[in-house]
Amino acid sequence: MEAWVEQLQNSVNTLERLKKIINVTPEEEATINTLHTKWGTTPYFASLMDPDDPNCPIRRQVIPSMKETENKYGMHDYLIWKENRDVGEVRPDCIARQYHDRIAFTVTDVCANYCRHCFRKELVVDRDLKLRFDFEEGIEWITDHREIRDILITGGDPFILSDERIEYLIRKLRDIPHIEMIRFGTRTPIVLPHRITDDFKKILSDYHRVPIWVNTQCNHPKEITEQTAKAVYDLLSCGVNVGNQAVLLKGINDDVETFRKLHQKLLTVRIRPYYVFYCEPAPGIDHFRTPVEKGAELIRDALRGHTTGLAQPMYVIATNIGKIPLMPDYYIVDKNEKEYTLKNYQGIYTTIPNIPE
Ligand SMILES: *Cc1c(COP(=O)(O)O)cnc(C)c1O
Ligand code: SF4
Repeated sequence: MEAWVEQLQNSVNTLERLKKIINVTPEEEATINTLHTKWGTTPYFASLMDPDDPNCPIRRQVIPSMKETENKYGMHDYLIWKENRDVGEVRPDCIARQYHDRIAFTVTDVCANYCRHCFRKELVVDRDLKLRFDFEEGIEWITDHREIRDILITGGDPFILSDERIEYLIRKLRDIPHIEMIRFGTRTPIVLPHRITDDFKKILSDYHRVPIWVNTQCNHPKEITEQTAKAVYDLLSCGVNVGNQAVLLKGINDDVETFRKLHQKLLTVRIRPYYVFYCEPAPGIDHFRTPVEKGAELIRDALRGHTTGLAQPMYVIATNIGKIPLMPDYYIVDKNEKEYTLKNYQGIYTTIPNIPE
């Protein structure tokens, strides 16, 4: 059996298996016995958890918490709102649309790690939202909508599908003349790096008019290992670029030091930071959420000027009308007819001439 399939079959999703890896606290045990929620991770990702620290940043993403039953701020039917599933345009279940030229194509609700902070919780973790994942319906809709250039394949985790299914999807999408790029959102480089097998590399490889891009999700420097580096290198060797979409998570990556280290370490394994997302107002994840300004402050205090421009993600909040950038805005301090006054990351001022139009 392939190592990645074995990882999934041995998913750490029972108390018994979890106890072999970490010292489960009485609270964790009570939560697992009480909450009816899908949870679990790969033995590989579980091995990165701190066996003794319940606040371990990986552990908090893996093990359910009673706080998930509290919901002061989360929106009811969040995904229906967010993915415009209740508006006029008729679309198959698998197509979520916010933009003119690109769509999200949801192909599965299965994941290698059931992230406790997932904004697709209703679909993936709680399973109260049921969608039909019909490739043919999706492909037909895309074929009929010639304004769509860019397909973001998402889930769940699309790289959990078999090689055959993924190859089929890629082939069908590449046959559509107006499709210019295919993107995958997958956490496998972080939670299941074994997925990038030689056979899978053959499917992704070779020059083609329509490139494949991957965005993964890494939220803490502890999630990055030698195996991550190898998986990303293998993807790049197939001509597939790898970016990161982190989620800003309270108590996990919302301090200056961790936030900087995360973005620096991503580059050491050739992952380019793309987005940092504000933790969305989905239900049951209040305890992961910070004030909105926090992400912009972290970019200002941890990244801009403090480390290379290659390490700078865009901070956004994903909404029903698309992603809204929330970047720090303190650089132009003053402007008059003669000059602009600019401020750098150390609070030092400089001036440059104001050129009239
Ligand atoms: C995030 C998202 C996209 C892609 O957005 P980019 O900013 O291009 O990465 C497209 N459609 C939907 C519905 C999305 O949620
Ligand atoms: S991998 Fe993505 S879709 Fe799956 S649980 Fe994590 S955040 Fe949600």
